[in-house]
Amino acid sequence: MHRTHNCGELRIQHVGTKVTLAGWVQRVRNKGGLIWVDLRDRYGLTQLIFEEGSTAKELLEKAASLGREFVIKSTGTVIERTSKNDKIPTGDIEVKVEELEVLNPAKIPPFLIEDDTDGGDDLRMKYRYLDLRRNVVRQKLQLRHRMMQETRKYMDGQDFIEVETPVLIKSTPEGARDFVVPSRVNPGEFYALPQSPQTFKQLLMVSGFDRYFQIVKCFRDEDLRADRQPEFTQIDCEMSFVTQEDVLSMFEGLTRHLFKQVKGIELEEVGRMTYADAMRLYGNDKPDLRFDMQFVELNDLAKGKGFGIFDQAELVVGICAKGAASYTRKQLDELTDWVKRPQIGAKGLVYVKFNEDGSLKSTVDKFYSQDDLGQWAEAFRAEPGDLMLVLSGDAKTVRKQLSELRLKMGEDLGLRDRSVFKPLWVVDFPLLEWDEETNRYHAMHHPFTSPKAEDIPLLDTDPGSVRANAYDLVINGVEIGGGSIRIHDRTTQQLMFKHLGFTEEEAQKQFGFLMEAFEYGAPPHGGIAFGFDRLCAIFGGSDSIRDYIAFPKNNSGRDVMIDSPSPISKDQLEELSIKLDVKAD
Ligand code: ASP
Repeated sequence: MHRTHNCGELRIQHVGTKVTLAGWVQRVRNKGGLIWVDLRDRYGLTQLIFEEGSTAKELLEKAASLGREFVIKSTGTVIERTSKNDKIPTGDIEVKVEELEVLNPAKIPPFLIEDDTDGGDDLRMKYRYLDLRRNVVRQKLQLRHRMMQETRKYMDGQDFIEVETPVLIKSTPEGARDFVVPSRVNPGEFYALPQSPQTFKQLLMVSGFDRYFQIVKCFRDEDLRADRQPEFTQIDCEMSFVTQEDVLSMFEGLTRHLFKQVKGIELEEVGRMTYADAMRLYGNDKPDLRFDMQFVELNDLAKGKGFGIFDQAELVVGICAKGAASYTRKQLDELTDWVKRPQIGAKGLVYVKFNEDGSLKSTVDKFYSQDDLGQWAEAFRAEPGDLMLVLSGDAKTVRKQLSELRLKMGEDLGLRDRSVFKPLWVVDFPLLEWDEETNRYHAMHHPFTSPKAEDIPLLDTDPGSVRANAYDLVINGVEIGGGSIRIHDRTTQQLMFKHLGFTEEEAQKQFGFLMEAFEYGAPPHGGIAFGFDRLCAIFGGSDSIRDYIAFPKNNSGRDVMIDSPSPISKDQLEELSIKLDVKAD
């Protein structure tokens, strides 16, 4: 037997018990005649003790020769510690060792395998299997595990069937580039990895499965950021005979279930906001509602007073930062520099301090009287002590800039508390979005999303204003998931492809199978997918989804542990009928 107990379970009531433990040596403290060894496994840490006099000399020597991360097995008796450690659950006891066996020695690890480590990101990624030994890292994956189990429990309880869909498919248009896989037996032809199982889940509705879900890997070849990985996991779902309301309430239910079961939190009701309002009030389709600071438009009050910059702007808009009038000149200068950075790109920042004595001090006093500024303050519902921050420019750009500034102010003023959760459904997304690069409309969600019936006539006259039956779930400013009610008839689907600039042949070639399926009795259907990694990160209170993935890729999409991607052999290339033409940088 390798062990009678794990390293996290012995307590004071075990005193006197003979036990065998196995695990990794976290640390050896050698005080001459007295040696302590911290033995670690997934369940915890137990202290082993070897004492000159009562421990055999040979055993003492063996203990002294142990190194970090040696795998050992030791048998001994549980005794009460003289000096207890209330920081760990096993802190009342230690094991007086009688037998010690080294199951496997270890090289000195490249970084400390403890909660606080000295290893940098790159090193820890290279030795991810060692990083995963650390409690803080493993706990994140345990959270992920719990979320997965609870998701399955809820979905199963709601009659969803979990169906696996293929990984070698052809392109699904979710807005990113495809990863492709060459086919050896079909030379010159390629599979694409699914950006999502979108078409398959719709086909399952045509098959009459009624409620489908899958916790599934998706692949998108896009520029990477902290909250993006080339392969990621979705909770993917589809339902038949449903309206938007049905889908929202089902997945609000899932969200509520997860918060309750995993975090013990009763989630407040999930609010609703139209896309148009989100953009107008927060400049963002995923507003962080942990704090207010809504946009206030000032065109009526700010224009026509001789301040050229405002007069020429399409939109003058600002936010009111509560209690921030105490910002020093230096802080305000820093804020101005911050909005002027290329990443934000504002030309400048106008601010108005509502001083405690009721006076108003602005950077544009030359153009605006105290009365004028008083009217601004009223529009902002500002009070003495508040700071108003105003930007101007073309509407779309300035909203985006102000949205960034709002988030920064929220952060600076400590309003983005990670233990507070503010979920929101954003609804009525536009169907199409203009793409400057390709000079044509793209589906904002994907081409299978249905337009609102009343907006269909606008497709020909004002395509950009057509609204879709599409929705996103946002929590704390993070897009957790999105979905839509689908098109379920060939004619509308064809119309949609036409508006997206597909020729009839292209549409037929790429999506003929789906349009044909729609002719064999497709029920009305809709669905949603949650980004599972992001959901885990939100639950765990971190910004990076990487921590919640056992073996993540780095910012260049590289797995530095297994060193992938990597070249393949000439023979493999030949077998795949592939010739390389790699250009040097
Ligand atoms: N396939 C969509 C996505 O990955 C989700 C959906 O529409 O259900 O975003």
